[in-house]
Amino acid sequence: MSIHSDELYQQVILEHNKRPRNFLQLDPCTHQAEGYNPLCGDHLNVYLRVSDQGMIEELSFLGDGCAISKASASMMTAALKGKTVEEAGQLFQEFRHLLTKELDPEKDPHSLGKLTVFSGIWKYPSRVKCAVLAWRTMKGALDQEKTIATE
Ligand code: ZN
Repeated sequence: MSIHSDELYQQVILEHNKRPRNFLQLDPCTHQAEGYNPLCGDHLNVYLRVSDQGMIEELSFLGDGCAISKASASMMTAALKGKTVEEAGQLFQEFRHLLTKELDPEKDPHSLGKLTVFSGIWKYPSRVKCAVLAWRTMKGALDQEKTIATE
């Protein structure tokens, strides 16, 4: 990570941690799941309202955790609103590959947008679980799993 992207990363994480987007319980919702990251103690719930056409009309989260888990959840809710369930699955795949360095945002095609701020986190393997928690929980909710724990 260059000095510039490192600074940007810090800024974005701090900002989303301070003012998380869509930080509420969605009621009514069509999908919901609870996610734990025992390694760090992150614990959050993800709520989605999916239309009959498979579009994510609303999504939100609530919970407690470290700045990375919270910022990642906040950015996820902003990124997935208005996307189809299929697109959300694809974006989750890209985000996971970004975190594990299987996707290079400079070279590989992707639609991650602002989420590329998390590139470089692969250097801190324990943090990868924090960053991926909200996404795994979101996917679990869509797949009708009620509780997700990062292994
Ligand atoms: Zn964490």
